[in-house]
Amino acid sequence: MIDLVLATRNKGKVRELTGMIRGTPLELNILSLLDFPDIPAIPEDGATFRANAMYKALAAAKATGKLSMGDDSGLEIDALAGQPGVLSARFAGEKATDSENNEKLLGLLRDIPERQRQARFACCIALANPERVIDVVEGSCPGILVEKERGGAGFGYDPLFQPLEYHRTFAELPPVVKNRISHRAKAMEKALMILEKYLYSPGNDAYR
Ligand code: IMP
Repeated sequence: MIDLVLATRNKGKVRELTGMIRGTPLELNILSLLDFPDIPAIPEDGATFRANAMYKALAAAKATGKLSMGDDSGLEIDALAGQPGVLSARFAGEKATDSENNEKLLGLLRDIPERQRQARFACCIALANPERVIDVVEGSCPGILVEKERGGAGFGYDPLFQPLEYHRTFAELPPVVKNRISHRAKAMEKALMILEKYLYSPGNDAYR
């Protein structure tokens, strides 16, 4: 078994990413930074999802000595000029909870009708070993923001985000459905192709 470290301590993300990888034939022992409590928090101060994903993957790989996967993601709202974007996790403040972030968002969108609440979730996933970033890929999922929170599944902005052509929010949809259509699922599909190639091509033995 080859160890793969997910470069996050967000339990919602760990659950989703692990579920997506477990559904493949890749023989991986999946760990996350929750398994390495002594490693300090990795800063997320890049200007783009891409930069943050690469930084997280490389920092986790260097700190653990293992193959690592970094995910950076967030919500981009057209009517708010792309906010909260890379600040999604700490939109309402450095230690904001999901419900504080959702409350702030609803406040900003109060006077904007639902038909003008177009948004997308975006996700970048990077793979790295302790020496280099192997590759980075992207995925996105368009939708609208509804007027009040609906549903109890998922995490983050899920109760407010209704994907295009669906009538339920991410938090109302069964997790298997979210995990097929989400920004993270789309990025993961590409990341798994890269991982597969990396694992089964010659010359990459050092971090197995
Ligand atoms: P980061 O990638 O750790 O910087 O955090 C991303 C933040 O974006 C999360 O804390 C959530 O607030 C939000 N986010 C990213 N993906 C999702 C998702 O699938 N559902 C709901 N919120 C998400």
